[in-house]
Formats: sequence, C-alpha cells, structure tokens
Amino acid sequence: MRIIPVALIPGDGIGPEVVAEAQRVLDQVARMSGRFRFQYRSFDWSCQYYLAHGKMMPDDGLKILQDFEAIFLGAVGFPPVPDHVSLWGLLLPIRREFDQYVNLRPVKLLRGIESPLREVAPGEIDFIVIRENTEGEYSNSGGRLRQGTPQEVVVQNAVFTRYGTERVIRYAFERAVHSRQHVTSATKSNGLNFSMPFWDEVFRSVGQAYPQVKQELYHIDALAAYFVTRPKSFDVVVASNLFGDILTDLGGAITGGIGIAPSANINPEKRYPSMFEPVHGSAPDIAGRGIANPIGQIWTGALMLEHFGLMAEAELLIDAIEATLLDGVKTPDLGGRHTTRDVTDHIIQRLTAWE
Ligand code: ATP
Ligand code: MG
Repeated sequence: MRIIPVALIPGDGIGPEVVAEAQRVLDQVARMSGRFRFQYRSFDWSCQYYLAHGKMMPDDGLKILQDFEAIFLGAVGFPPVPDHVSLWGLLLPIRREFDQYVNLRPVKLLRGIESPLREVAPGEIDFIVIRENTEGEYSNSGGRLRQGTPQEVVVQNAVFTRYGTERVIRYAFERAVHSRQHVTSATKSNGLNFSMPFWDEVFRSVGQAYPQVKQELYHIDALAAYFVTRPKSFDVVVASNLFGDILTDLGGAITGGIGIAPSANINPEKRYPSMFEPVHGSAPDIAGRGIANPIGQIWTGALMLEHFGLMAEAELLIDAIEATLLDGVKTPDLGGRHTTRDVTDHIIQRLTAWE
C-alpha cells in the first residue's frame, strides 16, 4: 500500500469545515481502495495565524511543505485582513516555490446540477481548462509615471518566456492524448501583437509532435462566447494566466457555481508538492453555520487522487457525489435544505453501499 504524505492547510472561515468533511470522504475511499492511504499533517496557517504572528506562515513554512507530496488547502481570507496579505503571504509563495505552473480546473456539468445554459444535459459539458500559472499578464512588471497628474501614463507589462509557454502547452497536449485528442488555445494575436503571435507560434510548434490531436486557436472574445453557445465542443483548453483566469470563472458559472468547483495547482514533474484547493474562498458570510457546500472541497480531493494516478478511486468519488446530488441532498447554495454534514454523510453512504 502506498502512503502519501499530505499537508493540510484548512485556513479560515468555511475552510476548516469543508476540509474536515473531505477528509472523512477520502478516508472512506482509501479504505475501499486498499491501494493507498493519505498521511496528513495539519497546519494552522491562516489569517488568524497572521493576526497572532504578523505573517501567514512561519519563516520556514515552505521548507516544511517541501517534504509532502501534496498540499490540501481549504481557503484563506478573513475580512479584517486585506486580500493581498493572504495571497502574497501564503498562496503565491507556495505556487512559486513549488513551480506549480499548471492551474487546472475541470468544467464538467455533474448529474443532478442544473446549468444556467438551456439545452445542455449532464455529460455534455465535460472539459478541462489549463491556465498558465506563473507568468504572462500577471508579471508584477510596470509602473506609473507622473502619478496623479493629467499627464499620467501607466504601463503594465506581460512577460512570456519560451520555457514557460512551451511547458504549459505541452502539458495541455499530454492531457489531450489521454482524453479526446483535442486542444483549443486561447489567443488574441490581432490585438496583442507581441505576446499572442508568440503564444500561437509555440502552440503550433509544440503541436507538431501531436499530429493525431485536433488543434484549434480562437481569440479569447470568441472563445468566451463559445463556452456559452457550444460548450460541448471542448476537450482541453489552454490559456495564458489572465485569459485562463477569466475562462475558468466562466467555466464555473456554466456548471453550477462556486460551491462545487474544484481546482489544482500542479507541478507536473512531481518534483515538488502540488496544491489542491476549491475555487471558492472562505465565505465568511456563512462560516460556522454548518451550511457550506462541501462538494467543492471533496471534488478537489478527487483531483488529488487523479494526480497520484488513482483514477478508479477518483471516478468512484465523482460517482458518489453525482448520486448524492441526484438524490436531492444539497446545501442551500444549490437550492437544497441540507447541511454540510448531511451531504458528506450521504456521499459516504453511497460509497459504502458500493463496497
Ligand atoms: P476570496 O476573496 O476568498 O477568493 P470571495 O470573498 O471572493 O473569496 P467566496 O468566499 O468564495 O468569495 O464567497 C462568495 C460567495 O459564495 C459568498 O456569498 C459565499 O457564501 C458563497 N460560497 C462560497 N463558497 C461556498 C460554499 N462552499 N458553499 C456555499 N456557499 C459558498
Ligand atoms: Mg473574499
């Protein structure tokens, strides 16, 4: 049996509530599988930790995390602490230090979830968005000249490297090879006349090694519209940091919203731990009331299983989530009247029934 060391960072607000529930479900999956066990160590790094210590994590935090194979994060954020503190004090350092250059989000309409789009049935929206996670438009390069004056000029640079662009596009092709052999790239080479022609060039060049894979490029504006008008036509979508940011939120919106959406920050070479976190934040408005939807965190756990090659286990878990939704066991954000615990209990029951 494989023992996989996992660092838990439950964080703030509903983070600890949903992480505890996801752990219960993952333990049940591990029992049924017999092939692996997650060995957890929990860290209280959070905005509460920040208020007590003046930093989000200890100085040797990254060094500590290095010894784990994965980081399972709830959410960080607490209204009195500005957002940039949790971002720059915890999330970004982890993503950078561990070279998590792929941000992956499934855009999949689960059975039992209604899409705001008419005329799509479950199973018809099922693709992934690969977002470049380290460079591009979010480069922290630029500046303001003659600030506050009528002559003010502001520059925000985007930085694309060949190394960074090639590796994320190659990852997208590798995913497509094990999926439905189709990669769609988001571009805007008509308006952004340095970065995007380069992105397209790299896309075509990497794509030459994958002649069996269908390859398409769309301008980001058209692609966003296609997410709405023909979401059935995608398999793997690859995008730069900014375009991916926008597309992943749109993808979440057409597949049932923030309470269920999972995400992963991946170092594909597995030289460093990858980080798995739901799309939602700490949701202070509903924290402590026992009504947070645990599915975002639990589905995130399924992505972690996939990362370790535990495909059958991940599939089993998704099946149990769908069965639970079809049984109508839902939290208020999905129009239901069940609690966080009801949903988890039901998922575990469904799993147990298949044992
Ligand atoms: P952050 O700034 O931490 O990224 P945010 O404040 O932009 O997050 P969330 O904390 O995700 O956003 O909350 C947005 C809204 O969605 C809130 O009304 C919150 O209650 C709701 N929400 C978020 N996650 C869940 C969940 N798991 N279950 C139910 N409702 C949720
Ligand atoms: Mg917030």
